Amino acid sequence: MNTPPDWLPEHVALVPDFPQPGVQFRDLSPLWRSSSAMSRCAIALSEDTGDGAMTDVDVVLGIEARGFLAGMLVANRLGVGFVAARKPGKLPGEVHRIGYALEYGSDSLEIQRNALSAGDRVLIVDDVIATGGTADAAIRLVDLAGGTVTGVRAVLELSALGGRAKLEPHPVHSLWEV
Ligand code: AMP
Repeated sequence: MNTPPDWLPEHVALVPDFPQPGVQFRDLSPLWRSSSAMSRCAIALSEDTGDGAMTDVDVVLGIEARGFLAGMLVANRLGVGFVAARKPGKLPGEVHRIGYALEYGSDSLEIQRNALSAGDRVLIVDDVIATGGTADAAIRLVDLAGGTVTGVRAVLELSALGGRAKLEPHPVHSLWEV
């Protein structure tokens, strides 16, 4: 748990039992709907917290789909480009693919093979870190492509699910640890 920025909580809707019973879904739609909250989010997510994640970033990698929203804001603010990590079959051309386990079943993430150059320093951005499995897959994807992960940034982190530990030793920072 941490203290969130004062503008953030009112822009996060808690939706019980979505998309399935038992899940407390954190809906960031109100955040994206507000121009001022969106600007503050861009500034806060791009802040250098001294953990090394923001040092010499070459590119931001956003995770499909809501990570595209936050990731693009951060890339724009840092003045770097953006790479989309997508679900299988969405990207044309040759891809790198990493599979990962979900609570029920499995999924994969892909990036285009020419999206990253060897040695690129890559900041990974998503909207929510829950178990950390998705962000961990993104880290492995960057590794596979020869890049270096500088860190992981998210708007929200569900700390009880322990995602941060799964992502060690990479620095993880979220605006609100709930
Ligand atoms: P995980 O792989 O468990 O860390 O799950 C993270 C991914 O699932 C992120 O891309 C989130 O968009 C989404 N997600 C998981 N749990 C929630 C939740 N309670 N509310 C909103 N999004 C969630």
